[in-house]
Amino acid sequence: MDFLPIFLNVKGKLCLVVGGGEVARRKACVLLEAGARVRVVAPEFNPDLAGQQGVECVVARFEARHLEGATLVIAATSDRSVNRQVSELAQARNIPVNVVDDPELCSFVMPAILDRSPLMVAFSSGGASPVLTRMLRGKLETSIPQNYSRLAAFAERFREPVKRRVTDPAKRRIFWENVFEGVIAEKVLAGDEAAAETMLQQMLADEDNIQRGEVYLVGAGPGDPDLLTFRALRLMQKADAVVYDNLVSDPIVDMVRRDAQRIFVGKKRADHTLCQEEINELLVRLAKEGKRVLRLKGGDPFIFGRGGEEIETLAAQGIPFQVVPGITAASGVASYAGIPLTHRDHAQSCMFVTGHLKDGTMNLDWDALSRPRQTVVVYMGLHGLGMLCAKLIEHGLPDSTPIAIVQQGTTPNQRVITGTLATLPGIAEREQPQAPTLIIVGGVVTLRDKLDWFHPQKP
Ligand code: SAH
Repeated sequence: MDFLPIFLNVKGKLCLVVGGGEVARRKACVLLEAGARVRVVAPEFNPDLAGQQGVECVVARFEARHLEGATLVIAATSDRSVNRQVSELAQARNIPVNVVDDPELCSFVMPAILDRSPLMVAFSSGGASPVLTRMLRGKLETSIPQNYSRLAAFAERFREPVKRRVTDPAKRRIFWENVFEGVIAEKVLAGDEAAAETMLQQMLADEDNIQRGEVYLVGAGPGDPDLLTFRALRLMQKADAVVYDNLVSDPIVDMVRRDAQRIFVGKKRADHTLCQEEINELLVRLAKEGKRVLRLKGGDPFIFGRGGEEIETLAAQGIPFQVVPGITAASGVASYAGIPLTHRDHAQSCMFVTGHLKDGTMNLDWDALSRPRQTVVVYMGLHGLGMLCAKLIEHGLPDSTPIAIVQQGTTPNQRVITGTLATLPGIAEREQPQAPTLIIVGGVVTLRDKLDWFHPQKP
């Protein structure tokens, strides 16, 4: 973050604009709208600015003394040396200064504004691209209806009464969300505040029935945030607390609601920060505190994700929950590696197995895995790779059978290492792929030469 976004109260405060042209006039108007006392300094003024109501015009060349008493300064002259002088003098006095179209000289930037007062959306590219910011503003303009002003004003009117009646903050948040997501908001947006008020009063009277904590068990996919489902994203934006482990990529965790409580529960191989039972209990405890808990899991929660165990505990405790499927590693990683999991010429079926070693061995149905014309996807298999290849050969697969390891699939660190059952263990030893890795066995691996499309750039 290059700038701290804040909303400044300038009501009745002196704000200085340096410059006498159209740009200066526009800046003066924004300041006026925010209730500032506006003084403009310039040797000459264009007639529009000179005639602007509420602006004090000082006909002079800018000097340091003009800064006296100013809360904020905007330099909008066409002379860079004057702008620079304003910037330097203001910064020396710790007065926030903006120089129009010259980020280098600014101590603050003016955001683009979408005004739905009292709701105000301000956004900025930090001077990187005003055009992009303007385009974004256009998009928001159409997606945030004008009457959001009414909705915000309505909420403001009932803020105190609701606060008095619903004293628990978590419950209050849910109350307001129900208001904004439901028919009450629709009424306000349609201009019928009276009906909305009646409904809100009813809801307040029925305050005990406000839905409390719940758990969302959400699959976050294999890593690329673009592979999230809409529902996952919606719940991520709604959650009060998020419980996640290291299979969930950082860019995805960053998309969770900013002020949600973040709880990392680890789970590297053999380094479980919290054990499964502790995670189950944590989810129950958070939900009982009235929170909407997001249990974010890599891939799909029901594929080698122990999602079933987590919701069993919730069900036993009577806590409401929902499960959101995600793109499982096999599916996401294979696509990004250019390996179709089935193909008429190579594989009519596909099996997902876990290669997790228990007491140093893999307890799998080797005969079933060693059949021809199928694809086998092994999760958590890297440490048992040597054993996996040996067993498959022992049970009848040719040692020339193609096999791939995909490291950190769908992320900028994706790397695909291919070989055969005979050669891959040795290759992997040299190449040292980094977790998480997925192993794909079968003829489909050869299609990669034709179908490879994802060439990640190192960030
Ligand atoms: N529920 C998850 C799987 C959890 S088991 C899912 O549906 O994908 C963890 C294993 O998934 C890892 O050991 C690895 O084998 C695999 N995996 C998950 N994400 C991966 C990725 N981005 N690249 C490669 N393998 C991945």
